[in-house]
Amino acid sequence: MSTEHTKLVVIGGGPGGYAAAFLAADLGIETTLVDLDVNPGGVCLFRGCIPSKALLHVAKVLSESRDAKDIGIDFGTPNINLDKVRTWKDKVVSQLTGGLGQLCKQRKINFIQGRAMFTSSDAVNIKKVDGTEMSLTFDHAVLATGSTPVTLPFAPPSARILDSTTALNLEDIPEKFLVVGGGYIGLELGTVYCELGSKVTIVETMPVLLPGVDRDLGVILENRMKKHFSAIKVNTKVSKMDEIKDGIRVTFQDQDGNISTEDYNKVLVSIGRKPNSKNLGLENTKVKVTDRGFVQVDAQRRTTDPKIYAIGDIAGDPMLAHKASHEGRVAVEAIAGHKVAFEPQAIPAVVFTDPEIAWAGITEHEAAAQGRAIKVVKFPWGASGRAVTLNRTDGLTKLIIDPETERILGVSICGSGAGEMISEGVLALEMGMVASDLKLSIHPHPTLSETMMETAEIFFGQSTHVYRPKKS
Ligand code: FAD
Repeated sequence: MSTEHTKLVVIGGGPGGYAAAFLAADLGIETTLVDLDVNPGGVCLFRGCIPSKALLHVAKVLSESRDAKDIGIDFGTPNINLDKVRTWKDKVVSQLTGGLGQLCKQRKINFIQGRAMFTSSDAVNIKKVDGTEMSLTFDHAVLATGSTPVTLPFAPPSARILDSTTALNLEDIPEKFLVVGGGYIGLELGTVYCELGSKVTIVETMPVLLPGVDRDLGVILENRMKKHFSAIKVNTKVSKMDEIKDGIRVTFQDQDGNISTEDYNKVLVSIGRKPNSKNLGLENTKVKVTDRGFVQVDAQRRTTDPKIYAIGDIAGDPMLAHKASHEGRVAVEAIAGHKVAFEPQAIPAVVFTDPEIAWAGITEHEAAAQGRAIKVVKFPWGASGRAVTLNRTDGLTKLIIDPETERILGVSICGSGAGEMISEGVLALEMGMVASDLKLSIHPHPTLSETMMETAEIFFGQSTHVYRPKKS
């Protein structure tokens, strides 16, 4: 077995790992990147963010052409060529991951396709995909092995029970499709299958979909989903699943203990993700792992083993690609000796359903839990000229403001394109903006982004399009 040395080894080539490796190379650090896939990209590009958003684009084309009937255009029933949809989605993935492979080469990063495992605090063993093995010693390591879907222990092994990865393969459009779990991944993939023609049911153990998300926004989404989805079962858990001739027989139990069964052609289980911290040889290092399986890190993303850093899904919530990338850059800067810490004012989150939901900073619920005095201002999209021209008034822009300092503490948006709009909120939070900064920034007309400015105007009781005088 050969032994080599590298200054920095990054284990895992997802958005955390490749962002870290690329920055390290840009800073002149000799870098090795190890991943199981043929190119960098990780879950995000191969089996997560990117393929799901490609399919959600397909869903949006379908829903917009269906809704066009309301404004006088009837495209008729769409003819869906599933093979072509799948091929296009796969092309999007290979184009982006292939591009990352090229960027890796241009930066002269040593990319190794294989599985890495720590043998000590300064060495990993790599089982390459070609069957050979090597030992790699390092000055520093960045651990970025991400996460995998949580499974239901009682689910029988069946090709009809999908996780997020197999659901993205889009083998067929099942007639009756059950999504177990009302989190963002379940709702996004449920939206895809619903628009492609499946009768979709969502089941969630909590009283609402997207538990933890601001209810003012969640309700708007739920109202639209109720129109298009077959059923939404909340306060209900799945207690059993059995394979039957053409599908899966699912047993439900509601909060009163009532049992019912129903048959589905396919079931997607999306009940959460768990960090990939097992089988990494961490017991051969000084790295500590929390009860939930996350690697313990400090503000620079250094683990309890001084040479080893951890970033992304393995280093804790929120499990989001942009949080992983940012952490990756912080860890590499720390390794390069820069004075740096991971201390964002806000990590935005987006649910790419229809309508989208996006938020950054503190939510109303979090402020209440902290006993913090806040002022909440809301701009309903019915008052937005742009929303009316788009025939999409099902939206709301909401600001959480400190009543004393007038500083913006949180931004929540529901509506078409909310995912693009939230960046203005992130900027407002990072720059420590006060409400009048937003109010006095001229926003282009007619755009949905004007709702940000007008929500700030409401704070002062001066919104042009919403009459809500300030109480003295
Ligand atoms: P990952 O992207 O999980 O990558 C880890 C990599 O490490 C993988 O390639 C894995 O093969 C490799 N690896 C694991 N063990 C080893 C080993 N021992 N040796 C070598 N390599 C190893 N996030 C968003 O921000 N926006 C979204 O819209 C979004 N949509 C999503 C949709 C779906 C369906 C899913 C499943 C996830 C989505 N996410 C989204 C979450 C996002 O994908 C993750 O937060 C992100 O990929 C985490 O990045 P990471 O760098 O931590 O690791």
